[in-house]
Amino acid sequence: MTLHPDETRLQHWLDLFSAPDVGGTPAGGVSRPALSEFDKVARDRFADVATTLGLDTRVDDAGNMYARREGTVRGLAPVVIGSHLDTVVPGGRFDGILGIAIALETVALLNDASLTTPRPIEIVNWMGEEGARFPPAMLGSGLVSGAWDVAYLHDRVDASGVRVGDALAAIGYLGEAGNRLTRFHAALEAHIEQGVQLDGTGHDVGIVPHIEPVRWCTIEVHGIGGHAGGPGPGGRREAVVAAARMITAARDRAVAAGGFKTTVGRVEVEPGSNNVIPHIVRFGLDIRSGSDDELEGHVAEIIDLFDAIAAEEGTTIRVHRDWAMRSEPFDVRIQSLLRRIAEERQVAWLTTRGHIGHDSLHLASMGPTAMLFTRTTDGVSHAESEHAPWPAILATAAVFADATLALANDPEETTSAAEQSPPRQSEVRRASTTARKP
Ligand SMILES: [Zn+2]
Repeated sequence: MTLHPDETRLQHWLDLFSAPDVGGTPAGGVSRPALSEFDKVARDRFADVATTLGLDTRVDDAGNMYARREGTVRGLAPVVIGSHLDTVVPGGRFDGILGIAIALETVALLNDASLTTPRPIEIVNWMGEEGARFPPAMLGSGLVSGAWDVAYLHDRVDASGVRVGDALAAIGYLGEAGNRLTRFHAALEAHIEQGVQLDGTGHDVGIVPHIEPVRWCTIEVHGIGGHAGGPGPGGRREAVVAAARMITAARDRAVAAGGFKTTVGRVEVEPGSNNVIPHIVRFGLDIRSGSDDELEGHVAEIIDLFDAIAAEEGTTIRVHRDWAMRSEPFDVRIQSLLRRIAEERQVAWLTTRGHIGHDSLHLASMGPTAMLFTRTTDGVSHAESEHAPWPAILATAAVFADATLALANDPEETTSAAEQSPPRQSEVRRASTTARKP
């Protein structure tokens, strides 16, 4: 069965969730922090659309919204599709929204064709994927997968001290624990790539084998403080100079080696005065690579490099390993289904590395999960200029819809780990440990 996405309707789904009354910005982006007033309107709209499509909507205690299309065989585990409606500020009109729009279009296509499936299909709008208002990211899917518990989730606070639990209640989206997703047959998410693997090679659709692992370290550089007008600059033990060299050296090593990325997004200087030589500099290092083994090798290599620079500058370093997100492989059977459909539909597809966390990362610890990436222009994301070209959107929607139908028709009850036992603890749990720190 081949489903043909309706371009006009797909545009309508995208427009619904990027309109000014749900946070659409004049520059063409969307600013919709999780559980904000705009998020409430977007959630209400999602529920209305679901009703129009004949779906039953429920909300769990994380504020995750599920819109269910019933299956014809009682008791079969659902196929879970969807993404997230929250955005960074300001964000684009595709990140998360595209995954919801493609999921809605998939159900609309099944309705158009009067197709029923043995398995239910549930479209999920995951709460707080971005972590922009309430860190950490992927909050709602993290609860469902068992990465953290509901008390932890409800106690996360935004910059003004507002708790997630109170924000959920304030907008009327604090649902029941009994409504959580507990098992699924397969989970599939469409998302913009947020990179240039597809755009750089002229492919429309990416099939993602796994989300790549990440490590966070804090590097503390200790030098000797003093007056800016005092002895030196030769002979000083300047923490800030050593740190600057380390940051540059990490970037240079990553560029030269290829295959891994280092980013320093946070630098703190003590005491932080114009006329004082800082005695301590702390900086956060985000480092990511293809596999856990490779990544550990790169972390060790970078720390050796920092040690050598510290010695040359007469300083010392302490390294704190803050957080580890292990690689989570996606289901090989769903990936081969996606490849087969992409080939049949003559879609230009590519195996695409997943450099960024998504809700599917949590879901993959529960059961068979896969992701499709859509080409984004120049890889721009988390920006109002974020853009996905129509041919890529339509190609993704076509593969996605056919795959969802195939999975929902799947009679085989491949009992996932989640159906037999509680979700296994993934390494993502460590995120909560770090996030609990002030
Ligand atoms: Zn996203």
